[in-house]
Amino acid sequence: MPPVFRFAPSPNGYLHLGHAYSALLNHDLARQRGGRFLLRIEDIDSTRCRPEFEEAIYEDLAWLGIAWETPVRRQSQHFAAYRAAIDRLSAQGLVYPSFESRAEIARLVAEREAGGGWPRDPDGAPLYPGAAKSLSAGHRDRLIGHGAPFALRLDMAAACAGAGGLHWREAGEGPAGESGEVAARPEAWGDVILARKETPTSYHLSVVIDDALQGVTDVVRGVDLFWSTSVHRLLHALLGLRAPAYRHHALVLDATGQKLSKSTRATGLRELRDAGASPADIRRLVGLE
Ligand code: GLU
Repeated sequence: MPPVFRFAPSPNGYLHLGHAYSALLNHDLARQRGGRFLLRIEDIDSTRCRPEFEEAIYEDLAWLGIAWETPVRRQSQHFAAYRAAIDRLSAQGLVYPSFESRAEIARLVAEREAGGGWPRDPDGAPLYPGAAKSLSAGHRDRLIGHGAPFALRLDMAAACAGAGGLHWREAGEGPAGESGEVAARPEAWGDVILARKETPTSYHLSVVIDDALQGVTDVVRGVDLFWSTSVHRLLHALLGLRAPAYRHHALVLDATGQKLSKSTRATGLRELRDAGASPADIRRLVGLE
């Protein structure tokens, strides 16, 4: 079976040099290894994703000389598949609803921090501080019956207890040079969200389901997602999915050493193209000659 690579951007802004690097690297690896290259549109967040950004993704990638298989999988068309996965996790007793607002969560975190500190996840966000896990079934049902909005969270302690030690094969490098067999540390993320109040899934869940459904064998993506792989490996174990191989690559940084953002015009592919850059120039700029 040929290896399967993918580039999975979110259409919440225009692509920049960092995206170009990731897309070209995946595309080049697929070519070199006689593999397939897929493009996936990660558009679960309807408040931030826009059709014009999606159109621009197709246009910019084609301009770079990238060809992808069709039809393109668009996550917003597959909410039922993510729901089915949540149902499987619920049936294992690993999912609970949490009702706190953002403001309440911020207040609880501030309280914990004042009282001696509170852990943060690998992205630097405070872990979920709420007590929704221990609400009685009756209390939960009443809140839901009254129409209280809720997110669905993974009971991380219970999930980890059942999953045992997990690892992944890293062909690239983590933020501290981790490579080879890396031990997953999903507990570092706390009770992650599986479905948001306003979105019936989450990044972690949909990426894992889609990579499995699409037969992705090699996940090649930015090192900013390195530790997310811990959660992905846990979800594989809980849902009986095969783990792909991983290769996390360095991020393209701006002149001041900062991560590029979708709103920084100087490194946007459209701006560079309008200023006369060629696809070969873009390859050179990201170090892929
Ligand atoms: N959609 C994610 C992003 O744009 C990438 C997901 C992944 O490669 O796993 O950052």
